[in-house]
Amino acid sequence: MRSDFLVFGSPRIEADEMDAVLACLRSGWIGTGPQVAAFETEFAAYKGASHAVAVNSCTAALHLALLAAGLAPGDEVITTAMTFCATVNAIIHAGATPVIVDVDPATGNIDPAAVAAAITPRTRAVLPVHFAGRACPMDALLALAERHGLLIIEDCAHAIETQYRGRPAGTMGQFGCFSFYVTKNVVTGEGGMVLTDDAAAAARIKVLALHGMSADAWKRFGDDGYKHYYVTEAGFKYNMMDIQAAMGRTQLRKVEVYWQRRWEIWQRYLAEFADLPIDLPAPLEPDQRHGLHLFTIGVEKARCGLSRDEFLVAMRQQNIGVGVHYLAIPEHPYYRERFGWSPDDVPHARDLGRRTVSLPLSAKLTDQDVDDVVAAVRAVLRRASGVGGA
Ligand SMILES: *Cc1c(COP(=O)(O)O)cnc(C)c1O
Repeated sequence: MRSDFLVFGSPRIEADEMDAVLACLRSGWIGTGPQVAAFETEFAAYKGASHAVAVNSCTAALHLALLAAGLAPGDEVITTAMTFCATVNAIIHAGATPVIVDVDPATGNIDPAAVAAAITPRTRAVLPVHFAGRACPMDALLALAERHGLLIIEDCAHAIETQYRGRPAGTMGQFGCFSFYVTKNVVTGEGGMVLTDDAAAAARIKVLALHGMSADAWKRFGDDGYKHYYVTEAGFKYNMMDIQAAMGRTQLRKVEVYWQRRWEIWQRYLAEFADLPIDLPAPLEPDQRHGLHLFTIGVEKARCGLSRDEFLVAMRQQNIGVGVHYLAIPEHPYYRERFGWSPDDVPHARDLGRRTVSLPLSAKLTDQDVDDVVAAVRAVLRRASGVGGA
């Protein structure tokens, strides 16, 4: 058994990130400044978007995109039951009403038929999540949006490298929101980005991200004289710092190298687990590029001899960190109490959420780490059910 604990989602941070952060510290300019501006330009170019606004999380990105979409109280936003709570919370904080729908049981992605069935006269937007890095069926969602006059805001927290029929995730709807949280594919510690082709919306998001002030704070302290700023609305403190952006720019340059490493790990897991009584990720669609953010398996007591929760405990005992992405949204008491939702309203998301386990997939994993994950999964299942091999 592995002697030290393998932390789930630990990011790959190398000497060039450290050099970039140190250079930023030495420059004396650590707040929102030239590194943030460069990161926005480079990320927009990477994704092929007209405008990018860096913020301090994907949660902030979603909140500001929803505000820039001009939602009013009572407006409904349809999203998936198989997502992180931040997706739903952002809708609530933007003053709109979240409506959750079920997913495709094979992919965990929002089901366009369920979206269609949930549209009411108050629906204003759809917020799909490209789950695990697999693109949602965007043609169907875009057709629904077109027919009903709805906005699309893509939650791309898993989907930095994702493409759908040649189109980059985050550029198909009106807004694309990204995360650079420590476990994501590009890391700034905390961080996020909004992409949009709407110049006015991008400008409004920039203002909202920094207190509602009409000019970036750093321009006030430039060498071309003092400039007053004017507050044009009650904004938020959501700006990204140069320390974060310096790291993000370095990570973005290695995004393909890291994706390739996760592809190797993905293939290895598929090959090693093919004979086990567990669910594996659905085959990749030939017209997509998967972002390879999460490698999820499904564990069920009837097939595996132990429950998902027993599997989580057993993996920890093997010194392997694992994750759950996610319990379906209505498993959480807050949403049940506030909106009267039940897991039984979304049976596919309910069942996926009760079976799913995410195995380590970071580009930081060494071949030995991957061997350890494979050995632990097989050992735990062998002990539980007599399957799993030597
Ligand atoms: C991580 C995540 C978020 C939130 O990202 P932060 O940058 O931590 O705010 C939102 N949605 C999904 C699907 C996520 O996985």
